[in-house]
Amino acid sequence: MTHCDESARDDHPAPRLLLLGGTSEARALSERLARETCVEAVVSLAGRTRAPLACPLPTRIGGFGGVEGLRRYLVESRIDRVIDATHPFAERISANAREACAALGLPLAVLAREPWRRAPGDHWIEVADMAGAVAALGQSPRRAFLTVGRLSLPAFRAAPQHAYLIRCIEPPQPEELPPSVELILARGPFSCDDEMRLMREKTIDVLVTKNSGGLLTYAKIEAARALSLETVVVLPPSGQAERRLENLEAALDFARAKQPA
Ligand code: NAP
Repeated sequence: MTHCDESARDDHPAPRLLLLGGTSEARALSERLARETCVEAVVSLAGRTRAPLACPLPTRIGGFGGVEGLRRYLVESRIDRVIDATHPFAERISANAREACAALGLPLAVLAREPWRRAPGDHWIEVADMAGAVAALGQSPRRAFLTVGRLSLPAFRAAPQHAYLIRCIEPPQPEELPPSVELILARGPFSCDDEMRLMREKTIDVLVTKNSGGLLTYAKIEAARALSLETVVVLPPSGQAERRLENLEAALDFARAKQPA
């Protein structure tokens, strides 16, 4: 447990941090923050998963109601800094955080994830968005493994000629799906061996993934490489100019600082 200097605490009230979460990095940071007596932190989740993993910090769940709702929440909860540790593809909430923090003059930092880099042996087709991923599958029927997240599935209804193996955490609604689908409900991490076994068993000939970065879901990339499988990779949205935190230590420094730079 990291204790603060009590005399300093009298002069400077504990920092009040909002941690925008929904990622393994946010979880790791919340575990470290739970041991900090100097920082009062609250985690925010969108509420996409019905049974989120337990969090050691006070947690609020659900959207704020756009920029205005977030701005109101920040004021009412007397938040004095924000860490955006959301997924690199969660563009809306990151934009909202930028706008609300700018309006209030609050320090905002992003706990960044390095995107995956193409390695020797990878057969990547990089595309800008999900529509590009659908087009990259081509006209001829294929057996595609989709690991793009439930909300991105409707795009593949435009290519009903393919047979899809879909893995996601929450069950999709039937109207979100293309016609030929086999569904696996599972939450990572997965091992490279298991990923290879699955791809072989299901005779997959193309993997479709976001370039989400991080280690938790990287095994599918390694498995596709080992099997010389074509991989359609959706590029992450281009980053914005706000402060980027390279690791958990930098995030803790930002959380603890009397006045984050
Ligand atoms: P998004 O498109 O950026 O956000 C859509 C709306 O969801 C936001 O406008 C906000 O609603 C609400 N929201 C998102 N994240 C929130 C959070 N941490 N706390 C409170 N409200 C939040 O986000 P998304 O892509 O749907 O992702 C939702 C969550 O899943 C995020 O926490 C993200 O880290 C996690 N996640 C996303 C992906 C992905 O591929 N996109 C993958 C893994 C995990 P209001 O406007 O009402 O505030």
